[in-house]
Amino acid sequence: MSNSISENIARFSAGLPEDVTLVAVSKTKPNSAIMEAYDAGQRVFGENKIQEMCQKHEELPKDIQWHMIGHVQRNKVKYMAPFVAMIHGIDTLKLLQEVNKRALQQQRVIPCLLQVHIATESSKFGFSAEEIRNIFKEDSLNTLEGVSIRGLMGMASNTPDEEQVKKEFSGLHALYEEMKTLHPGMDTLSMGMSGDYEMAIACGSNMVRVGSSIFGARNYKI
Ligand SMILES: *Cc1c(COP(=O)(O)O)cnc(C)c1O
Repeated sequence: MSNSISENIARFSAGLPEDVTLVAVSKTKPNSAIMEAYDAGQRVFGENKIQEMCQKHEELPKDIQWHMIGHVQRNKVKYMAPFVAMIHGIDTLKLLQEVNKRALQQQRVIPCLLQVHIATESSKFGFSAEEIRNIFKEDSLNTLEGVSIRGLMGMASNTPDEEQVKKEFSGLHALYEEMKTLHPGMDTLSMGMSGDYEMAIACGSNMVRVGSSIFGARNYKI
């Protein structure tokens, strides 16, 4: 990726449909990279480690909306509860209850997405479609006043097989529409990353989580 971060933000802002929110995934990236995107107008950023997100929140402008897109450990929810703008990876009811508890302590309502397992890989977290249907039928969501279930999130298989990816995204979109009839307050379907966001949008996504296409490849420490 030879374009600058600000050029990439401008390209995405101009290219995405108006109703699609861009979450700029800044995990592992330094504050300077985030500020370059911020100065280009980006305000929504995604992180996958709570500690890293908390540190960046402390150091960076307070009008940034921080989305937690990674797997969440329950004992760390309290650190992000004061400020997190949305949690994408709710994958157990116990985690949702913990978010509810910490949100109420902060006198907040935290927007959450339930993560659905749609990929063929077994390593990815999330509820099955059947579990999602049961959760919404039981109506237990409405009793949690500290959380607002805004929709669903999913990650497609990491495969060059576009038909497979399309099948997974379309399936999640159908489940989202089905659950919306039970929970009309939902407005967010988070699916699509650098490699598959166009397909995700074609399949009904309205929130994409894009990292490397904006910030360049990540250098993971070994
Ligand atoms: C890292 C990550 C992304 C962004 O991935 P890219 O391929 O760099 O765009 C999106 N979603 C989740 C959950 C991630 O962990």
